[in-house]
Amino acid sequence: MALIVHKYGGSSVGTVERIKNVARRVAYHYKQGNQIVVVVSAMQGETNRLLGLAHELSKTPDPRELDVIAATGEQVTIGLLSIALQEMGLQSKSYTGGQVRVLTDSAFTKARILSIDRDNIINDLNSGKIVVVAGFQGNDKDGNITTLGRGGSDTSAVALAAALRADECQIYTDVDGVYTTDPRIVPEARRLDTITFEEMLEMASLGSKVLQIRSVEFAGKYKVKLRVLSSLDDPESSAPGTLITFEEKNNVEQEIISGIAFSRDEAKISIMGVEDRPGIAYAILVAVAEANIDVDMIVQNISESGHTDFSFTVGNAEYEKTLKVLNEQHDSRKFIAREIKGDKSICKVSVVGIGMRTHAGVAAKMFRALAEEGINIQVISTSEIKISVIIEEKYLELAVRVLHKAFDLEQAPVL
Ligand code: ADP
Ligand code: ASP
Ligand code: MG
Repeated sequence: MALIVHKYGGSSVGTVERIKNVARRVAYHYKQGNQIVVVVSAMQGETNRLLGLAHELSKTPDPRELDVIAATGEQVTIGLLSIALQEMGLQSKSYTGGQVRVLTDSAFTKARILSIDRDNIINDLNSGKIVVVAGFQGNDKDGNITTLGRGGSDTSAVALAAALRADECQIYTDVDGVYTTDPRIVPEARRLDTITFEEMLEMASLGSKVLQIRSVEFAGKYKVKLRVLSSLDDPESSAPGTLITFEEKNNVEQEIISGIAFSRDEAKISIMGVEDRPGIAYAILVAVAEANIDVDMIVQNISESGHTDFSFTVGNAEYEKTLKVLNEQHDSRKFIAREIKGDKSICKVSVVGIGMRTHAGVAAKMFRALAEEGINIQVISTSEIKISVIIEEKYLELAVRVLHKAFDLEQAPVL
């Protein structure tokens, strides 16, 4: 008997019919002799609808209240799925995050899980129940409802799998695995049978929303066996999806590039004609850091007559706040620059692969493919297993498609 955590995202529970379909799959796995915990998201579009209501009332709604509102989405789905399972003659019990005692910190709208109580769930499983848990939510130490950031049900599922020492965590979604890139952008994208944990971590952090990054971090930390599969297949289908592996592939099997990730959630801030002196980067970025704004990529140009241009990127949601902080710093003469300007119409495209460690020439190939399409690169950043570029947002889809082709990702590697 295995203990398996299933997770179903918004599109997989988007209608009552789809919830019945989820119930059929869960029942099938249960009747195979497994213990099943199911984590569900809100019905498709529901979280956006709920947050939209709050934004109709206020431009800057209180994050604590946003979490009170957003968490209701998942509460509806757990009840519906439990009823669907009961209608099939199975015993099922739903839990909100608070009822499980998913303890989080108090960072409303982006809380982190600190601990999870396993006893109630284990007792229910041992008495033959199927346990259905609301993803995306927990409570802080004062009992406030918290949510884990968009896409956070993935993290709830992996964290539960870790706490319950589950044999496997299966993320069921509207694609049948992790692809070389988002198949909505490149129809020729290829499903990967396996992807290494490190690569998945990079893909998720660089914008591939098939898994929330914190879910991958949890899987790595607690060595959770994690698989992405389709919720739309026949429940009896044995399609294996994509397994996130912890072993490095050996050199012969290794593809140089495993995938292409992209993110529209980027904005660039440039400080033009700033004096080039020791401490200038600190003078610019310290206030940004103090305002709790995450800076992503940073570039500084070569100095000309003692002045330079300094640029960095932040998430779109932090764009206005960053400009405000910098203008205040400038007005109080913490640094002096000719101009502070911003650009929201940019995006980030990244190629990811552990094969880069042992193969040269990836950057040249990437830059040539973009140059041939006349796509200008504004910022570059690299790590051992990825290269990211900032380009104009209007070129995003073209860039992803040409890079997918340039690295032959539609073809399975010949061994
Ligand atoms: P869920 O609602 O099930 O959590 P998401 O919409 O969060 O589903 O994630 C699934 C989507 O992720 C897919 O529909 C696909 O468009 C997108 N996606 C982005 N990058 C990839 C990738 N590399 N492989 C598979 N899907 C991807
Ligand atoms: N319902 C939440 C969201 O839309 C959490 C999730 O789907 O994982 O972001
Ligand atoms: Mg998701």
